[in-house]
Amino acid sequence: MFTRFIPNNFKKLGRQIVYVPKHKPPEQRDFETLREFINRHQKILVLTGAGISTESGIPDYRSEEVGLYARSNHKPVQYQEFVKYPKVRQRYWARNFVGWPRFSSVEPNGSHLAINRLEKAGKVTAVVTQNVDRLHQKAGSEYVIELHGSGYIVKCLSCPYEIDRTELQEVMMRNNPAMESSFTMIRPDGDVELSKEQVDEFRVPLCPKCDGPLKPNIVFFGDNVPKVRVEQVRSQVASSDAVFVLGTSLTVYSSYRIILQAKEENKEVVLLNIGPTRADNIVDIKVSTKCGEILPKLCNSIDS
Ligand SMILES: [Zn+2]
Repeated sequence: MFTRFIPNNFKKLGRQIVYVPKHKPPEQRDFETLREFINRHQKILVLTGAGISTESGIPDYRSEEVGLYARSNHKPVQYQEFVKYPKVRQRYWARNFVGWPRFSSVEPNGSHLAINRLEKAGKVTAVVTQNVDRLHQKAGSEYVIELHGSGYIVKCLSCPYEIDRTELQEVMMRNNPAMESSFTMIRPDGDVELSKEQVDEFRVPLCPKCDGPLKPNIVFFGDNVPKVRVEQVRSQVASSDAVFVLGTSLTVYSSYRIILQAKEENKEVVLLNIGPTRADNIVDIKVSTKCGEILPKLCNSIDS
């Protein structure tokens, strides 16, 4: 079993580009189109996906990945399997434990910072993100709705207990002192190998209140976005006058339906993504380029 793991000095190795798909540089025309869009609106709902975090060194959904972040594993953890099988939870938590130091130290990039600037300029009503990496909050964004939850909170499946993920790392560290060696097993290509024995010996954390299984507060594949959150997003879309979609192919229905609602309500929808998306045919404008190459520059030129 191989778990993709990127060392903290990843950037120094100059390898982060690996995670950004091939793309063409933005043209002046693209830039003007987006600038006019932003200047036309005062209440923009920003919707982001994995494509915005690739430049921070977090791979997107379809890439082979760190294995700690259920939604982007190349063989994603299914909700039902996680709930049903202790073995699945053991493998998940072993990888999650090893991947955490790196995952939690990832920094926001120019795109996250640019969105925060748009927010400060009074242009943004809310940031709805499909990412569980908390990079928008790290960049200073204040009103963030985490559509698929957060890797930073862990909940018990049997009772209301919850714990901060950072705190849980300490608990797992105490229970698995030998596993610490896994942190140093990083190879130059950024991979870490967890042997079957290491996974089998891993002591899975349990709820201290009821001994129930713990699960990160992430919407796994096969599970649904909580109704309250769906409603929260729905009312944010309703009170916005446009939607700006960044770095997502909108493959998952929970994000695609945001676009459907916006179009039903005759709102302008603009998409910025390198590859094709599920909504290419229904949005008003589509620009195919890397977010990081256009957003920071865009923010310097908007009328406030
Ligand atoms: Zn419990």
